[in-house]
Amino acid sequence: MKYLSTRGQAPKQSFLQILLGGLAPDGGLYLPESYPQFSAVELEFMRDMDYRQLAFTILSRLADDIEPDDLKALCDKTYTTEAYCHGRPDSDFSQITPLRKLEDGVFILELSNGPTLAFKDMAMQLLGNLFEHALEQAGQDINILGATSGDTGSAAEYAMRGKHNVRVFMLSPEHGMTRFQQAQMYSLQDANIFNIAIKGVFDECQDIVKAVSNDHAFKAKYRIGAVNSINWARVAAQVIYYFKAYFAVTNLAVAMEAGQPVDFSVPSGNFGNVCAGHIARMLGLPIRRLIVATNENDVLDEFFRTGVYRPRKSAETLHTSSPSMDISKASNFERFIFDLAGRDGARVAELWRAVDAGDSFDLKPSGLFDDVSAFGFISGTSSHADRLATIRMAWEKYATVIDTHTADGLKVGLEHREAGVPLVCLETALPAKFEDTIVEALGRKPERPAGLENIESLPQRVEVMAADAAAVMAFVARHAND
Ligand SMILES: *Cc1c(COP(=O)(O)O)cnc(C)c1O
Repeated sequence: MKYLSTRGQAPKQSFLQILLGGLAPDGGLYLPESYPQFSAVELEFMRDMDYRQLAFTILSRLADDIEPDDLKALCDKTYTTEAYCHGRPDSDFSQITPLRKLEDGVFILELSNGPTLAFKDMAMQLLGNLFEHALEQAGQDINILGATSGDTGSAAEYAMRGKHNVRVFMLSPEHGMTRFQQAQMYSLQDANIFNIAIKGVFDECQDIVKAVSNDHAFKAKYRIGAVNSINWARVAAQVIYYFKAYFAVTNLAVAMEAGQPVDFSVPSGNFGNVCAGHIARMLGLPIRRLIVATNENDVLDEFFRTGVYRPRKSAETLHTSSPSMDISKASNFERFIFDLAGRDGARVAELWRAVDAGDSFDLKPSGLFDDVSAFGFISGTSSHADRLATIRMAWEKYATVIDTHTADGLKVGLEHREAGVPLVCLETALPAKFEDTIVEALGRKPERPAGLENIESLPQRVEVMAADAAAVMAFVARHAND
């Protein structure tokens, strides 16, 4: 299995070759050169597998340059009940991603029982073990530099903590994350984790990471790597839970016949999570609809309604109560457009020349937009008022507290619900991470998983710095060989 670039101008590479890199050299994103297919017979065979077996079965098609014994060991080490038991105590943690029924035909897929209480753990935990394995084999080490507005940074740090050949330098805005999110990151005392709070906003953190990435000499000298959401291994890891959910739903809904499709609703920002759903569908999983739910930052909803992709400027990005979806550009979206455009790399390169210049593109005139529904995509948007109403509804009707992002997904999912088709709404975080909005909606604080009751009062370890790339580079250089 080789991977090619969405812009068609980069050499084909294997899974391990693209694991530690970011963008392809031509600026594109990597995708399999063709999608392996799981037949109906194979799907039946996979139906009763546990999460680890399923992960191994799917990843061995996508990462066939990892020795099967090694890959098996990596899956077994990653998806343990101990790592994914931080959610609601009444969940069946042995499922890793338990399916919770709200009512007949409507389900929540729990993806937030990992160590940082957001779905990003699902992929990042695997990435940590893959990095460690690949670096060990190559006899190398790496310094990961990243920027976070909340969930990615903590997921990366918990995945990489204690790994001897990885150091993490994570930039976060000094203000802007919830106190809980800050405490999750800054209370880590591991010697290979460096938290840097920047006196500025998230975009300034991201600009510093970009500046460092563009300094090729520095990047090479200090072996700088990334864990951002365009990383293919993260997308691949997320494919697994679509399969797990599909089998769980169809096992529950006894009336369903083999091969009957299911709808998924996905709270979306960078298009990473729903892109994994698209890949699962391309691999042969019977998914009818992929429902893209956005918040007030509706760049994706606009595309799926009109065919116009119009990334916003950072200054136009709204700060909402589902902050992990506050994005102006959906970085993984290019992967879907590549498939939509019949895998025409030259065409994608031309479209992204416009995007990179700050412009938009419109797929209606060329007729390409007509094919969007054939890929199952549909969308909707949700506002702060919708979020509050949906959190209240879920509490009153189903006696369950959901987080703000999951509420966006449930709201939009229910709008597109069709009789006879099971609807799975992906839970992307636990409510404990976004306490203030839960209090606003329900007048009470959400429960916290055991052990995290007093996380804000733990000692914190964080370097506060000005929004200055040179200062950050000097800090990295000082600690890069610790
Ligand atoms: C990252 C994140 C999202 C958005 O996921 P994408 O893959 O970027 O579309 C949604 N909800 C939560 C809680 C997140 O952390």
